Amino acid sequence: MHYEKYIKKLKEVCIKNGIKLQKIGDVGKKKEYPMFKIVLGNSRKKTVCFSGGIHGEEPAGPWAILEFMKHYNSKRYKDTKIILFPVANPYGFDRGIRRNFLNKDLNGHFCKSVLSGENKVLYNAVKNENIFFFHALHEDEGFKKFYLYNFEKKPEKIYRDIILLAKKYFPIDTRKRIYNDPAKNGLIINRPDGSFEDKMFRDGVPYSMCTETPEAHPLRKRIELNVKIMNVVLDFTKKSK
Ligand SMILES: [Zn+2]
Repeated sequence: MHYEKYIKKLKEVCIKNGIKLQKIGDVGKKKEYPMFKIVLGNSRKKTVCFSGGIHGEEPAGPWAILEFMKHYNSKRYKDTKIILFPVANPYGFDRGIRRNFLNKDLNGHFCKSVLSGENKVLYNAVKNENIFFFHALHEDEGFKKFYLYNFEKKPEKIYRDIILLAKKYFPIDTRKRIYNDPAKNGLIINRPDGSFEDKMFRDGVPYSMCTETPEAHPLRKRIELNVKIMNVVLDFTKKSK
């Protein structure tokens, strides 16, 4: 029971650091999996949202979110509201599988007119938040190289900076096509894939992306990079007007 173990650790970190864990819904065949949202800081200036584990076989995101919470610097980010969805697909995470209990790959279903299940729970928990930066933490099973999906109206430096940071950890996938999508220096730009990050951008969130850490490398290193990226996102948000 990976999820139970994870939630136990999550609760421990919350208690230790005085963080409130909000239950936002129950999912699964028998609604046996509670879903959680965590809010850190307040929104005097800007709100950032991090979401992990929508693909259950991509563990670094959820563990990075937990690691981030352990070391969260409330002074440094005192004006930023941080929203965390630690495990977006608990059923999949529990089993180490991509899909949910209905054998649905949740990530492509955020742009439909009617949302259901996990997607509905997640979307309802962010739709009224004025998100400035959305980051979905994904991983790629087959690859040894890092890449990311980003959404932008004009070329934004921040995504290129994240590629440079990732390069210190893993090689970057610099192919011209990644999974049949045109790519440039590790970026797949503005792919309308119906994902959570796509939906956020369509809703007007100015910065939205999905990072893909390569699962061929040790988990510890993938977690470490994800936490670094989260901090870079927060520093960027803090500096942005
Ligand atoms: Zn994924």
